[in-house]
Amino acid sequence: MEETFIPLSVPNLKGNELNYVTRAVETEWVSTGGPYVDEFEHAVADYVHAKGAVSCQNGTSGIHTALLVSGVTSDDVVLVPALTFIAAVNPVAYIGAEPVFMDCDDSLCMDPEKVERFCREECETADGHLIEKTSGRRVKAVVVVHVFGNMADMERLMQIAGKYGLTVIEDATEAIGTFYEEGIYAGKYAGTIGDLGVYSFNGNKIITTGGGGMIVSDNGEYVKRAKHLTTQAKSDELYYTHDEIGYNYRMTNLQAALGLAQLEQLEAFIAVKRENYERYREAVADIPGFRLMDVREGTRSNRWFYALYCGEGGPDRDTVIRYLSQHRVQSRPIWGLICDQKPYRKARRYQIEKAADYQGHVVNLPCSSNLTPEEVCRVTEMLRQLTASGAGQIPGECSRSDVAGAENGG
Ligand SMILES: *Cc1c(COP(=O)(O)O)cnc(C)c1O
Repeated sequence: MEETFIPLSVPNLKGNELNYVTRAVETEWVSTGGPYVDEFEHAVADYVHAKGAVSCQNGTSGIHTALLVSGVTSDDVVLVPALTFIAAVNPVAYIGAEPVFMDCDDSLCMDPEKVERFCREECETADGHLIEKTSGRRVKAVVVVHVFGNMADMERLMQIAGKYGLTVIEDATEAIGTFYEEGIYAGKYAGTIGDLGVYSFNGNKIITTGGGGMIVSDNGEYVKRAKHLTTQAKSDELYYTHDEIGYNYRMTNLQAALGLAQLEQLEAFIAVKRENYERYREAVADIPGFRLMDVREGTRSNRWFYALYCGEGGPDRDTVIRYLSQHRVQSRPIWGLICDQKPYRKARRYQIEKAADYQGHVVNLPCSSNLTPEEVCRVTEMLRQLTASGAGQIPGECSRSDVAGAENGG
């Protein structure tokens, strides 16, 4: 019997999606006007307890806008993670600012201790600004990514950012629904702790609008300015006056219709992801050579992506990906380091150690919100078989087709 294909991460559209989209089409409000856009913005702001939310075309445009709103210019340095999806960093380059790459800690998110060390040892304070000594440029902001839905160490990062006057942009594109349960940020959602936060609704994220994004902030001025910049910086609706260069980053009513229906199901999706995480964890716990990575203590993670660490004497990462693929299971290696990608090879990297190790050892396992317990079992059984058959004995290189497929963006 042919085994069914298990994809890595696919949309789940069985709620009110068709209803709302149909209503948008029937009322002929399909573009950037229409009631769903406002409704979706309010619904997201309510859900994460943010004062304001501005919808946009995708997470990337959201991060670009957040950097502009923060006042980052082409004279500035922005601290960014080395180990994440490249869309967290490209907007820094759009502005012409200089990214400096930071290491991760064992949560895969930015290591606060290295950020602190960088600010203390590599920078000096002049005229109230933090200046990187080698370039003489102002260090203006830091982009913190909550990798795979796992909360970064925001307590430490906010402390350090406060001490050195850095603006914090949370790339929470993978982390809508993640929040602190304990500590000084108890009840605070990923994306709402820094100065600005950004969500993505790409097809592979936990909820999707096809493509889409949202900027959130508690700072009313930031919210107003984000709306302005994403709508062509139009300062008069009738006479079309523009006081600066803006962008057409608006979300459409069709996207927002999908988003509203998806948001209604977010908690249900998270519940499934958390249950499946536990199933993976229990099964993997007694397969030698593998470890399922956990999330920060004291947080409720949305468990967007599961991270399998391969490298405790078992089969290596590429063997795992190849073997799963041969059995019609899609998995994916964690991203390569962004500072190793062609556009960023000349950029400064600061003490990258852990990111380089994790980069070579982590595999993402199927995690869709409609993944069944039987499918989780099939995947873990394969890992078991692979270990039993002896590591590294499956011939052939890991090919691109093994890992390419549906919606692999983030
Ligand atoms: C998905 C993702 C983005 C970009 O979001 P898009 O909506 O695809 O533009 C940015 N950063 C990270 C970490 C992501 O995973």
